[in-house]
Amino acid sequence: MSEHTESLHFIEQIIKADLEAGFPADKLRFRFPPEPNGYLHIGHVKAIAINFNLGEKFNAPVNLRFDDTNPAKESIEFVNAIKKDVQWLGYEWAEERYASDYFDQLFIWAKELILKGLAYVDSQSSDEIANQKGTPTQAGSNSPFRDTSPEENLALFEEMAAGKHKEGTLALRAKIDMSSPNMLMRDPIIYRIIEKDHHRTGSKWCIYPMYDWTHGESDYIEGISHSLCTLEFKPHRDLYEWFLDNITKLEHHYPKQREFARLNLSYTVTSKRKLAKLIENKTVSGWDDPRMPTISGLRRRGYTPESLRNFVETAGVSKRENVIDASLLEFCVREDLNKKASRVMAVLDPIKLVITNYPEGATEMLEAENNPEDESKGSRLMPFSKNLYIERNDFKEEANRKYFRLTLGKEVRLKNAYIIQGQSVVKDAEGNIIEVHCTYDPDSKSGSGSEASQRKVKGTIHWVNQDTSISAKVNLYDRLFNDESPDQHKEQEFTDFINSDSLEVITAQVEPSLVNLKPGTNIQFQRLGYFVVDQDSTEDNLVFNKTVGLRDTWAKKSNNN
Ligand code: ATP
Ligand code: MG
Repeated sequence: MSEHTESLHFIEQIIKADLEAGFPADKLRFRFPPEPNGYLHIGHVKAIAINFNLGEKFNAPVNLRFDDTNPAKESIEFVNAIKKDVQWLGYEWAEERYASDYFDQLFIWAKELILKGLAYVDSQSSDEIANQKGTPTQAGSNSPFRDTSPEENLALFEEMAAGKHKEGTLALRAKIDMSSPNMLMRDPIIYRIIEKDHHRTGSKWCIYPMYDWTHGESDYIEGISHSLCTLEFKPHRDLYEWFLDNITKLEHHYPKQREFARLNLSYTVTSKRKLAKLIENKTVSGWDDPRMPTISGLRRRGYTPESLRNFVETAGVSKRENVIDASLLEFCVREDLNKKASRVMAVLDPIKLVITNYPEGATEMLEAENNPEDESKGSRLMPFSKNLYIERNDFKEEANRKYFRLTLGKEVRLKNAYIIQGQSVVKDAEGNIIEVHCTYDPDSKSGSGSEASQRKVKGTIHWVNQDTSISAKVNLYDRLFNDESPDQHKEQEFTDFINSDSLEVITAQVEPSLVNLKPGTNIQFQRLGYFVVDQDSTEDNLVFNKTVGLRDTWAKKSNNN
């Protein structure tokens, strides 16, 4: 462990203090406990990183535990997606566990509570139970079933488990205190009947334990030393401890629940329920739509594991909720891809460029460096000829002095190629430019060392060779919401703030070397941004997704509003 105390975050300090107070270092154990009711999102990356980084720092095991107590919402699809995402981030769990592994033990402990007079079966409706809860300032009232004898409760509970009662008719409640200032302590439900098969236990159970009852006991069974969760669980801590206090434990050790602030990201929502809504409403194509803040969406968008880990580490571990600006996430991926992504040429909105003095029918191969940030990436050869494509907005018939791209009579450099000068345009019947004609200086080839090659021109533009370029589908994304905190409005739904222009699909012309890239490969389209080969891309149907632009244009856009 590091000796620089000042750099420890508050959870690390808690652990350090526990170790100094005599907690055995070899008993440290952590877990990441997702409910398999959806895909993981960027907020979960923070929880994952906190737990796994503690494991690494203190050399302690970290379990992946599925909190699978509600078969109505959970599925094996979600279990598999979660495993894939955690692995992709680069973390290795010690053991894969499931709360459902403990259903037998939880059942035994529930009967123990009943026999101790600490739990009872309530046959009131959920409305009646809710009406007796009271308010934060007003005590609740006792259920008429609160004083049923342990024997009678036990018999009823066994009947519940045996499927003799319908969903919604009976519930097992802990008998704590209906006037506790903590509403969660007012005889919480610990088992309910759900007449559904479970993805792991099949039809064995028709009663399922509630989160609070399950979580602490699962931590205890696994020997978790520090059970870390987000702040909204703080009021649950009393209950967590009450349950552990009242079961017979095999050894004296007691997991400690501690809370940290959720990670909130601007311009999006991070709640599985809300993300599921976007899929249901067909706002996005699925959990892995590249506009989603899910790990799978970010992966498909071209985010790297390193960029996400770096992002949550930069955002930090705090005790107070805040909203992290989406531009930090974009900064982190740009920084990582700048080092890793090969530079290639693609023209998103092509217009034909004809070099009138270039020999007809000739093609030459020009050398282009793959990554100026990394010499070891080498170079490639790009075909060049008389007929090219350039970006439509890299040409203007007339332009002022500040326009450094191609215009009539002025010179620009074609990246990795020659200096050209605009000469004339060809227009269609409606007056739209369909071709730009230019001349080139044969002595100005990039890297040739000639005097002409070193001539300074104001602009450099990218291009692709018409004959050898390939058509590709390119998905351009913008933020999914046009409000910084879409789910923080009292009067409006988060769905009222969906940006209807968050996806633009175009056909681009790309250089031929891109045909063999594997899905998931990150590249930089020079001058345009970082892109990734989509998972559905094939040799015959290339698809690229825009990850992020080269600069933070969004901040500029919103300031100009
Ligand atoms: P959601 O509201 O998205 O469904 P959840 O808390 O219900 O989130 P779980 O799968 O139960 O999702 O959470 C697993 C772990 O991840 C929990 O420890 C939870 O505290 C943590 N977690 C969930 N969302 C965030 C977030 N935005 N920031 C940090 N940690 C989070
Ligand atoms: Mg949850």
